[in-house]
Amino acid sequence: MRILIVEDEQSLATAVADLLSQQGYEADVSTTYFEGMEAALSNAYDCLLVDVMLPDGDGIEMVDELRKAKCSTPVLVLTARNATSDRVRGLNVGADDYLGKPFEWSELLARIKALVRRSTMRQEADEMVVGRAKLHRNSRTLEVDNRMLELSSKEFMLLEYFFRHPKQVLTREQLVSHLWGPDTDVADNALDTYIYFLRKKCGRIGLKQIIKTIRGQGYMLGPMV
Ligand code: CA
Repeated sequence: MRILIVEDEQSLATAVADLLSQQGYEADVSTTYFEGMEAALSNAYDCLLVDVMLPDGDGIEMVDELRKAKCSTPVLVLTARNATSDRVRGLNVGADDYLGKPFEWSELLARIKALVRRSTMRQEADEMVVGRAKLHRNSRTLEVDNRMLELSSKEFMLLEYFFRHPKQVLTREQLVSHLWGPDTDVADNALDTYIYFLRKKCGRIGLKQIIKTIRGQGYMLGPMV
């Protein structure tokens, strides 16, 4: 879980980052609007904490810009206490929640957890899209250029895992443990069999190389061409 803190008050930013690290989160700090924008758009965060008054811009405008740039990461806006207008503005442009300063650590953590949980649930309800391929959770089908492919439950689990991590190499151990649980004694070639069938099936609807073998490392989602 990785969180970005956009806050120019250095001591507060550091204290929040320390608190989040202690809780097992990875925390990055940006102290300006410009840095914050750049960080939020170039990394995959699970949540953004954005202060309203930044030295080079307005945090609520940042949320507006991020939403326009199709960044849907949950945002918790940090406002001065009782600044009702900030809250309304923030929620109007697509912030997910706000917290008045000064705040209690426990409240901050609770809000972050709630935001991340809600956003995960939202993601689970929807279809997942990578390139021109769409994975439908409810019907367990893969859609490419209006052609549909039904997947078995294991094939779906496997492909969904790749869709969740489209730019990462997944090791054999990770995949086996995802499909059969951490202490499995499933045969070593069971994974290869599923990958073989998945590639073959996807080839039928025009997706070549849906899963790439990365020699000595594992497998990775292909470029969807
Ligand atoms: Ca500030």
